[in-house]
Amino acid sequence: MNNNQYDYDLFVIGAGSGGVRASRMAAAFGAKVAVAEDRYMGGTCVNVGCVPKKLYVYASQFSNAFKDARGFGWDSNTPQFEWATLRDNKITEISRLNSVYDSMLGNAGVEVINGRARFIDNHTVDVNGKQFTAERILLATGTWPFIPNFPGSEYAISSNEIFDLKTFPKRLLVVGGGYIAVEFAGIFNGLGAQTTQLYRGPLFLRGFDEDIRHFAAKEIAASGVDLRFNSNIAAIEKLADDSLRAILEDGSSIDCDAILYATGRKPHIQDVGFDRVNVALNDDGTIKVNDEFQTSEASIYALGDITGGMELTPVALAEGMALAKTLYNNEPTQVDYDTIATAVFCQPNIGTCGLSEQQATEKYTDIAVYESNFRAMKHTIGGRSERTYMKLIVDKKTDRVVGIHMVGEDAGEIIQGMAIAMKAGATKAIFDSTIGIHPTAAEEFVTMRTARAS
Ligand code: NDP
Repeated sequence: MNNNQYDYDLFVIGAGSGGVRASRMAAAFGAKVAVAEDRYMGGTCVNVGCVPKKLYVYASQFSNAFKDARGFGWDSNTPQFEWATLRDNKITEISRLNSVYDSMLGNAGVEVINGRARFIDNHTVDVNGKQFTAERILLATGTWPFIPNFPGSEYAISSNEIFDLKTFPKRLLVVGGGYIAVEFAGIFNGLGAQTTQLYRGPLFLRGFDEDIRHFAAKEIAASGVDLRFNSNIAAIEKLADDSLRAILEDGSSIDCDAILYATGRKPHIQDVGFDRVNVALNDDGTIKVNDEFQTSEASIYALGDITGGMELTPVALAEGMALAKTLYNNEPTQVDYDTIATAVFCQPNIGTCGLSEQQATEKYTDIAVYESNFRAMKHTIGGRSERTYMKLIVDKKTDRVVGIHMVGEDAGEIIQGMAIAMKAGATKAIFDSTIGIHPTAAEEFVTMRTARAS
């Protein structure tokens, strides 16, 4: 397919989730493709995001499992946790995945170029002093953690550093109220750190269903995280023993061993040579693209986190796939952003798909809300007081389920299946006629008979 005027049909900048999927698929459809990467194969998700995070979530769940086991007859003492073992096993697994990504690209016929790519013009990039031309260039450089600037902010770390800390922080302070903050507070609390989470607003997880936010806050606090809302750091000081002191805006202070800032992520577009091309940005600094992921510079495309929208690996994968099909397989494809399920891997998990009650109230004139709040069977003998909450939101006019939410063990796994039903347009009547799997927590979703009184 290669148009001989250029070295490549497609030159991809960034081998993260979106860039790898787009390059592999484009090459599979016959395009001549190169991908430049200056850090690590697989991007944020594989190296400092979803994958190591989930491994650490598993690690953190053992502390409860050891305790639960006693009620089930196991004479279990809680063994010592070794941070170095977890961290180093994680490093080995991620290196394995890096090689898998490398060979996957090689096998697909994609040329991998190690180094930072910078635009020279709208068809040319420079990597390590060598120039490459391409008919199209795809920017898929993702986002980078943002830490606000304040006295002592240089002592804060981000999710890029937390996975590989040399020593386990016995006292961890987490700042932020989004996915990353909530997940890491849960991980380190489960691993045995004394964990405090500060959020600047009245209730964390802004944008999630209100009941879910309240319920999750209650359970997370009960699990041991010292959750403080309407609270923020004014300054950080380093103490003589190398530990840190966070001075809060109200004048109080917290001493700790590490401070994780999970205060959002910004597009990773520094030093890519944007002065050489005409790529327009949105107000928040993300890259403006049309429905086909084309930027204001016709030969330059962008997808994934860098374009704003939902910053989720499966979304970037779907976008990479759509782009490759559209450009190189004569198969115009649009991503359907409706009803994308997502999970926050805090403890217990949050799983959610579709509209929150607040969004549904704005969109529909009449909704019904079904909910269930119970102590899972496992905890009766196990002895944990943790509760599970489930919620269905139904548009009364069409009977369609327009929102499904859960806080509870395995919510991420359970909501994935529910998302298929929602995508298929399932009505509440279909949920009701579905026979449950007994005994499971998930069966509650098909046995909610009475709507909450409005
Ligand atoms: P989010 O944007 O989700 O959350 C940022 C948090 O930091 C918000 O609570 C925000 O408060 C707060 N904040 C922002 N600026 C400041 C500041 N200057 N001082 C104090 N607090 C501040 O970002 P994350 O970093 O948590 O995650 C980035 C994205 O990555 C997520 O949105 C998600 O899409 C993705 N992700 C997905 C995961 C998953 O699928 N499980 C896991 C991890 C990340 P406020 O609400 O007041 O604005």
